[in-house]
Amino acid sequence: MELESVNTCPVCGGAKFEFFLDAIDHTATGESFRLNQCTDCRLILTNPRPTQETIEKYYISDRYISHTGGGSTLFDRIYRTVRNYTIDQKLSLIKKYKEPGSLLDYGCGTGEFLKGAITKGWSASGVEPSSTARARINAGINIYRGLSDVKGKYDIITLWHVLEHVHELNPTLTTLRSLLNPGGMLFVAVPNSSSYDASHYGAQWAGYDVPRHLWHFTKKPMIKLLSNHGLNVRQIRGMKFDSYYVSLLSENYRHPGKRLSNFTRGCITGLRSNLQARPDNYSSLIYIAGS
Ligand SMILES: [Zn+2]
Repeated sequence: MELESVNTCPVCGGAKFEFFLDAIDHTATGESFRLNQCTDCRLILTNPRPTQETIEKYYISDRYISHTGGGSTLFDRIYRTVRNYTIDQKLSLIKKYKEPGSLLDYGCGTGEFLKGAITKGWSASGVEPSSTARARINAGINIYRGLSDVKGKYDIITLWHVLEHVHELNPTLTTLRSLLNPGGMLFVAVPNSSSYDASHYGAQWAGYDVPRHLWHFTKKPMIKLLSNHGLNVRQIRGMKFDSYYVSLLSENYRHPGKRLSNFTRGCITGLRSNLQARPDNYSSLIYIAGS
């Protein structure tokens, strides 16, 4: 296992980290990873972490459905139904800020969101480094392998549960910012490690998803990070289905095999999380930022 340490906080430049918790990779390897917290801006990070070269093996799993789109269990089918509903919700949210124009989905996976965006009249392109995911995207949709390949400028750039996977946080945001048209907006969705379900499940919270999640954001560090790049957060929105999804996964980590009681408990915790989350402390948050 080849790991690298992060010695400087990418949000505030601080160099002092304290122990936050140890979490297990429940999806691929069963290995344990340490989470540290910056003593200054409170950013939580997986540290040490696999390098960009060694992290690939942690994505090889049948259960990593966001990349395969597969799976035939009841849970997978519910997941897909909810996903299509949330795609419509995301597009309605974007439309509050911009009429359909050019859109780039960074980390577009198997392209479900892009498909929805194109249907609603967006001229949409994606970036996806995984060749397995790219192979499943409908022909005719414009996909780049990496950020450096991207051509043109965009009215909207979206990152749906992507930024927490990105090693090169600041260079990536610098590039994304440069790809925005004047008045363009960035939509960044990430898990929120200060949500009710995060504190309820502790180290077993599925939102930590180590070591694939390198950064574990809360509002303050995220707002600062974006503003470092000239992106001011205009609004923070909750993703109400994520609390259920993450709670169900967390229950399965806690009590492997007890599907039915996990389903019940996960739903209750998800509901409780949403009820306590108002106005903006939901399990996952969408940060809407513009220059
Ligand atoms: Zn910091």
